[in-house]
Amino acid sequence: MQSYILHLECSKTGVIYPVDQIHNLSDDGMPLLVRYDLKKIKEELSKDSWCMESAPGFWRYQALLPVSNAASRISLGEVITPLIPLKKSSDVLGGKQGNIIVKDEGRLPTGSFKARGLALAVSMAHQFGLKHLAIPTNGNAGAALAAYARQANIKATVFCPDDTPKVNVQEIQLQGADTYLVNGLINDCGKIVLEGRERAGWFDVSTLKEPYRIEGKKTMGFELTEQMNWTLPDAIFYPTGGGTGLIGMWKAFAELKELGWLTGKLPKMIAIQSTGCAPIVNAFDQGLEHAPLWDNAQTVASGIRVPAAIGDFLILDAIRQSDGCALAVEDEHIINVRDMISKEDGLLLCPEGAATAAGYQIALEKKIINEDEKAVLFNCASGLKYPMPDSNQTIDKNSVIEYSQFA
Ligand SMILES: *Cc1c(COP(=O)(O)O)cnc(C)c1O
Repeated sequence: MQSYILHLECSKTGVIYPVDQIHNLSDDGMPLLVRYDLKKIKEELSKDSWCMESAPGFWRYQALLPVSNAASRISLGEVITPLIPLKKSSDVLGGKQGNIIVKDEGRLPTGSFKARGLALAVSMAHQFGLKHLAIPTNGNAGAALAAYARQANIKATVFCPDDTPKVNVQEIQLQGADTYLVNGLINDCGKIVLEGRERAGWFDVSTLKEPYRIEGKKTMGFELTEQMNWTLPDAIFYPTGGGTGLIGMWKAFAELKELGWLTGKLPKMIAIQSTGCAPIVNAFDQGLEHAPLWDNAQTVASGIRVPAAIGDFLILDAIRQSDGCALAVEDEHIINVRDMISKEDGLLLCPEGAATAAGYQIALEKKIINEDEKAVLFNCASGLKYPMPDSNQTIDKNSVIEYSQFA
């Protein structure tokens, strides 16, 4: 299987690292980015021929992915996730029908887009012969690691905050990972994973602390470009935790631009966070390069409860370069919007996905975008993985049923 991977590069200093070694962060403690031989790709492939049609889902972008050993391509049946325009709910949000489009990532294996990143991280771990992987998670990353690691026959150990949605924790455990609840937040779990590297002998697959999850996440950018026929939307609303997806998509667009295949204006990248945990919004508003730790992080959108992100400067760079911004939304707003879209259009978003729709409303109000512009909202997980309102209407089968009540 051909890979055009050239080398890895420190995202801060540009120092180059070889591809045939196992890496976590650069020597400067910064995320490493994968670079490809774009010149050679341009010579050998074209915009119409670069995809591997026979491969499932995002594996079609093999030419711009790092896996070179076919036996190390660990797959659980990935799909190209659909674009679903909002209908009636779009009127409620204040946009025009057809202009608010949800990319529903909940259709991927393990029900979230973490499958993209962890599929790549686990495949590369398999290619390097790693035997034990560990991860801190708010739920979805742990589930994706557990599933792909089992598929690859690699041991996985997972640490989640003890208030992670129960179904997520159960899913992780059932999919064969050693699963632990920690009385803290994801950064506390991250510390345990980091400290255990030598003593427990595992490899740390935390967000951006190994180079390949971002390569998986960037496929969202490739997919979107292909699905929208090489004309990107005016804005992308992305629920931002560690920011891998936002940084990844920005990297994908840059690669396609450099290849000369993607022309025209790139979307405004709009990072959405919760008012209960908004370090990136805070740093964006204050013009900072890095985001200070957010104290007492709390939100129903557990996937974006990330008080400190190692790639904060990369998130902020992408937002600024794209002429985008960062917005915070209230938890109550998130849940109201989730319930509304579900009731109006039958599309059940996860709270993080609903946060992007709430963020869209705020962006309209603040005139960051207008209703004639096309916006893509990322629904990053299946709404089924989160608590939902109870159902409380009952029928007594032994009484006379008043059928007029159903009219
Ligand atoms: C992980 C996660 C996010 C945040 O993704 P990043 O790319 O790490 O910022 C958002 N929503 C859900 C459902 C997630 O699981």
